[in-house]
Amino acid sequence: PGCDILGCVAVGLLCVVCVSGGLFNQTSSSSDESTWPSIPNSYCSGISQSPVNIESSSVQPDGNLTELRFKGFGERTALTEIKNTGREVKVMFDYGKMSVEGGDLPGVYNSVQFHIHWGDGSSSAGSEHTVDNKQYAMELHIVNTLAEMCLVFCMQATNDTGEPRSWKTLTSYLAEISSAGDSVPLNGSLSMDSLLEGVNRSNYYRYLGSLTVPSCNEVVVWTLFKDPIRVSQDLIDLFSTSLYLNKSINSPLITNTFRHTQPVNGRVVSSQTGGIRKRSPSSSASTRPLSTFSSFITVMLSVALSWL
Ligand SMILES: [Zn+2]
Repeated sequence: PGCDILGCVAVGLLCVVCVSGGLFNQTSSSSDESTWPSIPNSYCSGISQSPVNIESSSVQPDGNLTELRFKGFGERTALTEIKNTGREVKVMFDYGKMSVEGGDLPGVYNSVQFHIHWGDGSSSAGSEHTVDNKQYAMELHIVNTLAEMCLVFCMQATNDTGEPRSWKTLTSYLAEISSAGDSVPLNGSLSMDSLLEGVNRSNYYRYLGSLTVPSCNEVVVWTLFKDPIRVSQDLIDLFSTSLYLNKSINSPLITNTFRHTQPVNGRVVSSQTGGIRKRSPSSSASTRPLSTFSSFITVMLSVALSWL
């Protein structure tokens, strides 16, 4: 059960990690993140941790960051179940139906699940990553495996009510999963595309970091989209007012489910070369040495394989 309770991001390869983080299972809120570095065998005090604050002025252009290709994101049967894990809300995917490739990734990444990080309704923001120190209302993580890759969508509150319709549908399930461990099937009611409607997926940041829950392994390729998902405040408030940490009658609500930003420590955050289409095939991109990113992936894969 370690994987579920931790909200751990992986099936297969990284479940090994979840089990080793088992000591964490009994803790309740992410507000105790200061104790994470003392969890045995954790990497939470490493030097390449996530989330981070992205300083847009120091982002480096990278011509290799091409468009990502999303397969199956319009498929309604791909989203199978919504669940209260006691730490977060998680939507499971039918494994193999959704995948992501392109964008300088070394292969096809199967999408496994998405989950959401939130704060405390209108009163406090809850995104994990920040951009120029701006914290968004919520943050959605689409977790993918080959190695680990996380697609991040910041979420911004709007003044409408009950908008957009896809998020009204998603949040309508929250009342049915109020207790930790509750889950309900989605029965083809939603696709990932509908939840991402109106979001420009062409522009994103890329950096290498860690899981944002113990054991904080530094094995994640982070892809953070610049354009946020816009959801009305009344729907955002439902996350911090509908979901309980455990099954007891006086269980606290699940709030502030984000880890605070970690030091960048000299890591490079990269992004596309420019907003305007350039048609210069003779650009310098082809003469670049093998990127550190590719070698990182190789190391990561070998580490992952050694766990099996
Ligand atoms: Zn997450």
